[in-house]
Amino acid sequence: MEYVLALDQGTTSSRAIVFDHSGKPCKAMQQEFAQHFPQPGWVEHDPAEIWESQWQVAMGVQEASNLSTANLSAIGITNQRETTIVWDRNTGEPIHKAIVWQDRRTAPICEQLKRDGAEDTVREKTGLVLDPYFSGTKVQWLLDNVDGARARAEKGELAFGTVDSWLVWKLTGGARHVTDATNASRTLLYNIHTRAWDDELLELLKVPRAMMPEVRPSSEVYGEVAVAGPLKGIPIAGMAGDQQAALFGQACFRAGMAKNTYGTGCFLLKNTGTKPVASKNNMLTTVAWQVDGVTEYALEGSIFVAGAVVQWLRDGLGLIKSAPEIEALASSVPDNGGVNFVPAFSGLGAPHWDPYARGTITGITRGVTAGHIARAALESICLQSFDVLDAMQKDSGITLKELRADGGACVNDLLMQIQADVLQAPVVRPQVTETTALGAAYLAGLATGFWNGRDAIASQWAPDRRFEPQQSAEAIAELRKNWERALERARQWETPS
Ligand code: ADP
Repeated sequence: MEYVLALDQGTTSSRAIVFDHSGKPCKAMQQEFAQHFPQPGWVEHDPAEIWESQWQVAMGVQEASNLSTANLSAIGITNQRETTIVWDRNTGEPIHKAIVWQDRRTAPICEQLKRDGAEDTVREKTGLVLDPYFSGTKVQWLLDNVDGARARAEKGELAFGTVDSWLVWKLTGGARHVTDATNASRTLLYNIHTRAWDDELLELLKVPRAMMPEVRPSSEVYGEVAVAGPLKGIPIAGMAGDQQAALFGQACFRAGMAKNTYGTGCFLLKNTGTKPVASKNNMLTTVAWQVDGVTEYALEGSIFVAGAVVQWLRDGLGLIKSAPEIEALASSVPDNGGVNFVPAFSGLGAPHWDPYARGTITGITRGVTAGHIARAALESICLQSFDVLDAMQKDSGITLKELRADGGACVNDLLMQIQADVLQAPVVRPQVTETTALGAAYLAGLATGFWNGRDAIASQWAPDRRFEPQQSAEAIAELRKNWERALERARQWETPS
């Protein structure tokens, strides 16, 4: 066997990447798909398009690399997390569009649950907070807003799944309705201590157990591809949410190791070993992976808008024509010129958890140019990441030695340098930055014996460039002070309904 294939179903695109034994990406294909915004704060995907785009890129790399049962050991899946799909078990037809993780429509449900005093129970059992981000309230919304859905769900006619479940269902021709522990831990319905769906939580969110997928480890053979063609019969052997997969792909196998993924949002995860650490600082406690019968956990800080602020400068403002152009534009000025940019386009995630915050640009004076706005935008990504890391350090009492970076925006050297400055700690970019897909490949390849164990994987991780802090602590303290003031202006902008 020569290869493992990773299917990386992201928020804006579906990717397929073939990896060889050395963990090197050999062939990759990517396809964007439509984002639907039916109302302000609502975000939907078409589940059929998720599947079709994913399958097309899988077939694309199959053809390019001539993949078959003769040379392909396994398929691993990693996915945008929390995004919620409900479909009919008999026809396989979704009852509604997928409600995407960024979608804020269930903020009132979360408010009501808080008023009912459910927050502590939810936090204790799931490691999560009551925010529209997670799947549970999205399922509740679907059951209450699609005609007849609740009755059908109670009769066992409907299936719920996050994108991993949906893809395995489609790949196996409806034979398997499963999810893995990492994806389950993002639903508000999974108890991370007992590692099972929790009756009290199911009742609280009014989700019938009959629609839940079976929870499986992150690395095992779940089934085989049933779709006719050259991939038929390939084992599907690894599954993890995108951020957990990236933590695995970055070989952050020991407690205390952390990575930050700079994509649409930023997701900072820190391995805490076999113990779930309860956060006192609004971080999430989440399953890192379940491998070889052992469940490991992570603390996570989720930032909703990071690279997306660059997209907005491109598409919303037209300041740049392509995302990489931001580096030159932001480098055209020595500093932010007094501008602070809080990109709370869909509220604020960790550590603020304010669904009512909105984007704010402060400190604009006559001399401010596009360069300053661009610089403030990059700083906003790093300052949000600092806030998360700071909260994590308070929780764990451990100071970070270095941060491993990945994701589409980590190619930006200025961004990485600002991050090292803001953190006052080194930031390291690995040679393979497709760590999400790589993590899924590793999980799948471990299950089929393509790789022998985690030591073999850890030895494949290699740095590309290390960014050391260059700015003084005083300069950073000043930057952070103004950031705090700007944050205050962004908070609670919308009125809770
Ligand atoms: P996702 O998987 O979340 O869809 P990616 O990891 O592909 O995202 O990263 C894409 C994001 O990175 C986009 O939001 C884009 O604006 C941003 N991005 C891409 N290149 C750069 C760059 N050179 N500098 C800053 N941001 C970038």
